[in-house]
Amino acid sequence: MNFIEGPRAVTPGELRAASITRHHVTEFYREQITNSGYLNQLKYIVEPSLEEFKSPGNLDTSGEHDNTVLPGLQHKYARTAMLLVTDRCASYCRYCFRKRLVSKDSDEVATDFARIAQYIEDHAEITNVLISGGDPFVLSTSRLDKILDYLLPIPHLTSIRFGTKIVAYEPKRLEDPALVSLFQRIHEAGKAAVVVTHFDHIGEISVDAECSVRALRAVGVQFLNQSVLLAKVNDDAEILAATFAKCHQMGIRPYYLFQGRPVKGASHFQVSLRRGLEIARGINQRLSGIQKTFKYIMSHYTGKIEILDLGADGRVYMRYHQNKAPEKIGRIFSRWYLEGACWLDDLPQ
Ligand code: SF4
Repeated sequence: MNFIEGPRAVTPGELRAASITRHHVTEFYREQITNSGYLNQLKYIVEPSLEEFKSPGNLDTSGEHDNTVLPGLQHKYARTAMLLVTDRCASYCRYCFRKRLVSKDSDEVATDFARIAQYIEDHAEITNVLISGGDPFVLSTSRLDKILDYLLPIPHLTSIRFGTKIVAYEPKRLEDPALVSLFQRIHEAGKAAVVVTHFDHIGEISVDAECSVRALRAVGVQFLNQSVLLAKVNDDAEILAATFAKCHQMGIRPYYLFQGRPVKGASHFQVSLRRGLEIARGINQRLSGIQKTFKYIMSHYTGKIEILDLGADGRVYMRYHQNKAPEKIGRIFSRWYLEGACWLDDLPQ
């Protein structure tokens, strides 16, 4: 197998034992990153590294198993239902926090949408559904339409959101004319259609991606972007500010900058909280007021935590952006910073 460090002979058993994700990259993305001028950074997103065999961590850092209420349906935060509709993606990111299921035949993927819809109907507090995976847009549009058949009649849903990296990996997928009708169905049902793109680096934003996004914005689709802070790829305020500024220009609202998770086989992508905060500050210094709409977030087992600052007192200040317990949302708390710490669990109480 070809690794960034060079070719190595590995057995299928070794790959399985280390949970090494399948290596697959679209031709489009390969060409895009080769011509971007940033190949030396972007290759780490999709090319396997020997570091994956030694990176410690676990395969479910956000407690997805504990928040699964039906196969393929997670209900962690009161207002959001998350559906895993596929375990496939157009290309596979080496840092994926769902390594445990992507590129595999996972039993975590939703199959019984009637039961899922019944659960959502019975929980009037759920206002939005996030359709995720894998990448939902690897499914055919007719398959996505069938999923919507179950969701659109639910009156208390106000938005249907798709989480996808296909706008980077295969943007022409969004040019399918049937998708315009799919998004129109969502609008006609009185709900917002939202696409959350996943651009980590300005070099991933192609001309085709911009065209696809602009075309769907013209029919009323809202766009947000999430990025993951990744060592060797985008741990650079200049690059992330340029990425977010470009997103803003295309009508995609920068939404989350995720702290890399301690995922087994991917924790070598983590950046320390000290460095992450310096980068977040550097991004904010480079953007105008209307462009700085992102939050620097740690998606922890206990909830989504906004990472605010490292104080002169040596403590990291944070705030729950999302938590299962509503009374914790918005509350600022702090922990002692330990040099090199990358995750809440690395910080002493
Ligand atoms: S596209 Fe998303 S789900 Fe798929 S490998 Fe990348 S991060 Fe994971």
